[in-house]
Amino acid sequence: MTHHDPNCIFCKIIAGQIPSRKVYEDEELYAFHDISPWAPIHFMIVPKAHIPSLAQAGPEHEALLGRIMSLAPKLALEQGCRPYPEGGFRVVVNTGTDGGQEVHHLHVHVMGGPRPWLRG
Ligand code: 5GP
Ligand code: ZN
Repeated sequence: MTHHDPNCIFCKIIAGQIPSRKVYEDEELYAFHDISPWAPIHFMIVPKAHIPSLAQAGPEHEALLGRIMSLAPKLALEQGCRPYPEGGFRVVVNTGTDGGQEVHHLHVHVMGGPRPWLRG
């Protein structure tokens, strides 16, 4: 049974209680477009299990984190990022208050598309 936090906005999105623009889904991951994008292409990949941040990731999460990182380039291309090296994308994992994290459910931002971007 996947851990679900009833007060977490991303757990509600994963459960379909809050609508989102889905990019990808499997048994353990969900990806969806950011509601206020910083770049022309901006989506997030999240584990379905409620892990508050990268600070709580341990050895038991290594396979999950590896899957997220190898999924990122595949989904980036599918979403319209141009291929490496002219194109590419940025991966960001804000962690904790000093890391600029606002939603406390681990999420990996994937951003790309032609510049300029709103942030970065
Ligand atoms: P953080 O600052 O925690 O790394 O990023 C959280 C991101 O979640 C922000 O970029 C914000 O725009 C996005 N976000 C917050 N609430 C929602 C929502 O209800 N739906 C979607 N699609 N994105 C959200
Ligand atoms: Zn959650």
